[in-house]
Amino acid sequence: MVTFANNPQYLGIDIYDDNTIQDRANTLLFNQSSGGCYLQQDTCGRCMDITVMYKVDIKLNANLIFSDAVATGRTLAEATQSVMSHEFGHVLSVDDVPPSGAICDYIQTIMYQDSQTLMRCGKLTPITPCDSNAANDAYSNVHPGPYCGCSGVACT
Ligand SMILES: [Zn+2]
Repeated sequence: MVTFANNPQYLGIDIYDDNTIQDRANTLLFNQSSGGCYLQQDTCGRCMDITVMYKVDIKLNANLIFSDAVATGRTLAEATQSVMSHEFGHVLSVDDVPPSGAICDYIQTIMYQDSQTLMRCGKLTPITPCDSNAANDAYSNVHPGPYCGCSGVACT
């Protein structure tokens, strides 16, 4: 596990190995998307909605990433780079782009959902301008920070 920010004042991104998950990676965003505090102010004064990001967990299945590397002729480092670039898109609240059977020239985003196609096509890092624009658009609405409890006051 790598903790990028262990200071409770800042967003924590924890990365774990977990070879039991079904996918190469699984990114879990901890924010407020429902529940009793949803759309109330927290004690830090923010509106508790989906844009307030408290924590992120990234789980990696090293066995599946290694299999992808072997299947696509990539090194393990290249395959991991491709998977991590994709997962950090999710950290920035960018969604997957469903696989379309596109040829390599038409894949313009690291968020393409087929990891082996990304690796086979040499798409190992974010691709500008598609990925940078998507991240800028999504992240401009995200407010990372510490977890602050529910104040009981509705958002204004
Ligand atoms: Zn994804």
